[in-house]
Amino acid sequence: MGLLALGTALDWPEARKRAQQVREWGILQLLEIWNKAKGKERDALLWGDEVEYLVVLYEKEGSKVLLSLRQAEILDALACDAELAKKGGCTAEGQDAELKQTQSQPVPVFHPEFGRFMLEATPGKPWGIGFKELLGVEPDMKLRRRIAKEHMLPTEYPITLTTFPRIGSPGQFTFPEYPISGPRLRSQFVPDEIANPHIRFPTLAANIRSRRGRKVQVNVPVFHDKNTPKPWKDPTVDFDLHQWPEDDDVRNGAAPDDHIHMDAMAFGMGSCCLQITFQAKNITEGRQMYDQLSPLGPIMLALTAATPVYKGFLANTDVRWNQISNAVDCRTPEEMGEKPLKNDRWRIPKSRYASNSTYIAEDARLRPEYLDPDLVFDPEIKQTLMDGGMDDLLATHFAHLFIRDPIVIFAEDLEELDLKKTDHFENIQSTNWQHMRFKPPPADNSIGWRVEFRSMEIQITDFENAAFSVFMVLVTRAILSFDLNFYVPIKRVDENMERAHALDGVLREKFYFRKNPFPARPSRANTVFGDDSRPGSAMPSRPASPGLVEDEYEEMTVNEIINGSMDGEFPGLVPIVESYLDSVNVDVETRCELATYLDLISKRSSGELDTTARWMRNFIAAHPNYKQDSVVDEKITHDLVGAAIAIGERENEGRNFAGLGIPGLPKLLGNFRGGCGGGDENGAVAGVDGSPSE
Ligand code: ADP
Ligand code: MG
Ligand code: MG
Ligand code: MG
Ligand code: MG
Ligand code: MG
Repeated sequence: MGLLALGTALDWPEARKRAQQVREWGILQLLEIWNKAKGKERDALLWGDEVEYLVVLYEKEGSKVLLSLRQAEILDALACDAELAKKGGCTAEGQDAELKQTQSQPVPVFHPEFGRFMLEATPGKPWGIGFKELLGVEPDMKLRRRIAKEHMLPTEYPITLTTFPRIGSPGQFTFPEYPISGPRLRSQFVPDEIANPHIRFPTLAANIRSRRGRKVQVNVPVFHDKNTPKPWKDPTVDFDLHQWPEDDDVRNGAAPDDHIHMDAMAFGMGSCCLQITFQAKNITEGRQMYDQLSPLGPIMLALTAATPVYKGFLANTDVRWNQISNAVDCRTPEEMGEKPLKNDRWRIPKSRYASNSTYIAEDARLRPEYLDPDLVFDPEIKQTLMDGGMDDLLATHFAHLFIRDPIVIFAEDLEELDLKKTDHFENIQSTNWQHMRFKPPPADNSIGWRVEFRSMEIQITDFENAAFSVFMVLVTRAILSFDLNFYVPIKRVDENMERAHALDGVLREKFYFRKNPFPARPSRANTVFGDDSRPGSAMPSRPASPGLVEDEYEEMTVNEIINGSMDGEFPGLVPIVESYLDSVNVDVETRCELATYLDLISKRSSGELDTTARWMRNFIAAHPNYKQDSVVDEKITHDLVGAAIAIGERENEGRNFAGLGIPGLPKLLGNFRGGCGGGDENGAVAGVDGSPSE
């Protein structure tokens, strides 16, 4: 959004002066879309995934692996070939066959990302409702990886680790190499050139820093191993740097003991994730999906955990979420409650990258007790929206998003308000990085209301990424078909998000979750919307008896949430999905393929299989260079990345992992794609690397 707009990006002092204008114009644009699209009906149930990659420079024989900063060149090459493919004229060797291969599913689309070492790829067009189509996801993801690779140097590879283990470590970690401590980021660990050079990105980073009045502070608790000193002081922090005023940050306590200290947006926004966007048939259904998927965010974060290393050290957390949150936290000391409010309008409890703070569905089951009692919203904006005809809940949602300042403003865009565009609205909307996003139709109203599920971590293989994507699609279908109710108080979702960070949280933590997800209709008095007349569902309603909100949920393990509780009270998401699949017509082969995905989800939840984070920890612990001191050195990083590359390539060749010699794979991936139809392409593999399973 606005990515291609060229113009004069305002520095923070100027941007701040124009923030209110952007908000006001953004709200007018939002009302324009809302009035145009609120009655939109019968949009198709489409969905699409987004996969993000790191680009690395790797040679098997070497002992070092680097991030490649050639995003722009790679994207140019991809765009050129995509153009040629569209015209049917691509004859460049090696690329044409792939690019023209699929008629029904057009060539994947590649996008830039914040990190200059990142790529993002989406399907060429969104997926439809068919079950067969779900089987197209994994081949398409593999195709994307292949196409990306084909547009890289022989030693460059796209990999799907969430973070580069040694980004920001002393010594060279990018190619080309640049000096650190540049004017935009002022980081003591990473150069300004780490960010996508498009003016939007360095401006975003610089203005966040400028608005905060200091650098961002990303502190991750270090994992204390046997030989890790206690207290541990991050040995890479330079307390004697005097290049920028912000170098005082660490002298003022920004780098506490026992924490890996990071100081730039790239440490967060340089992480890769797996996102899924759903189009609803109308706004009502979109609002329902937003609310019902929200409590699943932290659960899926814990289950996809894949981020145990930062800046060359093992962390005591397993996921990326809070690091991104801190890496883009633009709040001032006043907003954070460190100083009395004087120049700023509000205390703001969360970063603009954080778990959701609103529920928005027009749902009789949405009780006021679920809403966030500390929600900050702009009352004037809410009033403007309500005067424009928007209902209270949705107006509150947007009035909450609009407490934020726009960070990147182009002077040219402020000359005239264009109600046929949504640029000012999107400016604020798309820099509110919550774990769900409610996406209105674009200005031309060509597509419908969409909801984005944003918490999942990217996985190493496309099998896993397809499995998690397809699982979320099936859960969403089950939610709609059975009218499921996952409401818990938003504060509990916030707490779950914190718990999802714990090391091995998937096995060790408990999460607040609703005990009975099946629909019951409470009486009017206890709901936000007194309207009981929602469309009927397949499931019988139970008699209404709204008890205490606290009795509606309890603490459950991920295993109980996914596979069902021992006492049978909570059915489990996988069994719910299975009964949904029983209720529709799915052919045997498709059902079998889907079962391999559900199996992965189920076994990751029970601990029969490892999360990516656990697998990485075991890989590092078993490496000859590891000294049980929490240090992930260059050679370990080289070999870990090498393993990720080898797994990706082997998967793409359609073969199993036998003989790769990478430890722990059976425990990560299970009986990889064994079972359906017995074709040798997906042939069953037990003990895939020939070693006894651990
Ligand atoms: P963003 O980065 O803003 O989240 P992207 O364009 O990168 O958005 O990705 C959005 C995802 O939504 C893609 O997978 C795309 O295929 C999918 N998508 C596009 N149009 C629709 C639609 N009408 N309904 C559902 N999904 C869509
Ligand atoms: Mg995207
Ligand atoms: Mg995006
Ligand atoms: Mg992205
Ligand atoms: Mg991103
Ligand atoms: Mg997205």
